[in-house]
Amino acid sequence: MKIYPLGVGGAFTKTNYHNNYILQLNETNLLVDAGTTLRNSITEANFSYTDIDFVFISHLHFDHVGGLEEMVMQRYWQFNASQHTPEKTKIIVHEKLLPALKKLLSNGLENQDRTVDDFCSFITLSDGEVYTFGDYEFSLFNTTNAHVKDLLSSGFKLAWQEGNILFTGDIKWMEQANILSRIDEKTVAIFQDISFTSNGVHATMEEVLQYYPTDLHVKIYGMHYNDNVEQFHHMLSDTKITLVKKHGVLEF
Ligand SMILES: [Zn+2]
Ligand SMILES: [Zn+2]
Repeated sequence: MKIYPLGVGGAFTKTNYHNNYILQLNETNLLVDAGTTLRNSITEANFSYTDIDFVFISHLHFDHVGGLEEMVMQRYWQFNASQHTPEKTKIIVHEKLLPALKKLLSNGLENQDRTVDDFCSFITLSDGEVYTFGDYEFSLFNTTNAHVKDLLSSGFKLAWQEGNILFTGDIKWMEQANILSRIDEKTVAIFQDISFTSNGVHATMEEVLQYYPTDLHVKIYGMHYNDNVEQFHHMLSDTKITLVKKHGVLEF
């Protein structure tokens, strides 16, 4: 499996783009979140909207969903020799988030008798329910209240025969989302948001180091971090944590 980080920055990033990823699962490209910077980050990573087979939306903050409407529109409004050749966007979302996501998209998409369902098809998952991409099993875990109080959000686990990865999404309270219970001996990587400054909605470096047992630190890939990350280099150098870099390809 290959992972292409389109961006690794926090919501207010100016330089690192929003924390969005393309997971290449054999022939399937799964986009993880679609923030407002997607229109630039996707082309800089040499992908286009039509390369995407599925989009997973973790929650409705703009750095995770602000670029979705444009992507859906551009895939729909394609023309081939003057013929309209629309492509629906397949969106994977926690079943509880579906009504709010449809409402959000409907503001821009519903016109001239079209509805959101003309542009998108939705795959809804409940906690732990598995969706299969060939050899890969994708399942969600609920992180509602673990990022922002009362905000619906989820992370995911992606498992294959030899391994699995965990993606926390935006999270501050790892204990509440019971992240450790989802890790097993096959886990090869934990994608975890890390803030280097005190933060009410994201885990800080200290909180990450404290929560995960030391032997797991080598498997942690920090993401969604501050633009001025170089200033905090000293905090990282003593740890085994890796920071994900924009446009670097990861392979598992
Ligand atoms: Zn975010
Ligand atoms: Zn968020």
